[in-house]
Amino acid sequence: MNIGESLKNILIELPREVKLVVVTKTQAVDVIREIYEEGHKIFGENKAQELILKQPELPQDIEWHFIGHLQTNKVKFIAPFVSLIHSVDSYKLLKEINKQALRNNRTIDCLIQLFIAEEETKFGLDINEAMHLLEEYKSSSLDNVHIKGVMGMATFTGDMEQVRSEFRKLKRHFISLRETYFKDDPAFRELSMGMSGDYKTAIEEGSTIVRIGSAIFA
Ligand SMILES: *Cc1c(COP(=O)(O)O)cnc(C)c1O
Repeated sequence: MNIGESLKNILIELPREVKLVVVTKTQAVDVIREIYEEGHKIFGENKAQELILKQPELPQDIEWHFIGHLQTNKVKFIAPFVSLIHSVDSYKLLKEINKQALRNNRTIDCLIQLFIAEEETKFGLDINEAMHLLEEYKSSSLDNVHIKGVMGMATFTGDMEQVRSEFRKLKRHFISLRETYFKDDPAFRELSMGMSGDYKTAIEEGSTIVRIGSAIFA
């Protein structure tokens, strides 16, 4: 199956309200352009260096999502154009995103990355750390960032009941953060969960954004 076909097969199954981020890490710009020409314009990268190299070479109306661990010293390079940063995991990072967004005269949408997996290697905050971050955020005035929800990654396993229970946990945390900190902000509505191996389960559990790479390119 070619890339266009795999993409179409995934899009057909997605509920209309679920957004697909095509994850293009390690893919060449020509491959990305091919997908763009099929009509898809939302792409995700997980390394700032890679994103910075690709972005100038591709159409400027692409919606770029940043989905990997982001170092504060790299924020300035992606701030001029990034559309949604899925991986905010510290107040320090949020503050830097705000600063660079202000410099570029724009507002940058962000998600808080929560740790839900068993694997210790994955990034993200636990619920207490996330609450701590949001307390700081609420008591400051970071006017150039807009927090729109949360992101999480399930354990990499074929045990779909475990994956499901991790997605449920993420959804519970999402709801509890929304009730505590975003009662008056309907824009806090995004639940970024689901990758190639688990996006169907993620959608059943309420995902609003899925991030899919290998199922399209493999
Ligand atoms: C690579 C990556 C994905 C996509 O993974 P696939 O299994 O290739 O679909 C999604 N989210 C993050 C954060 C990633 O790094």
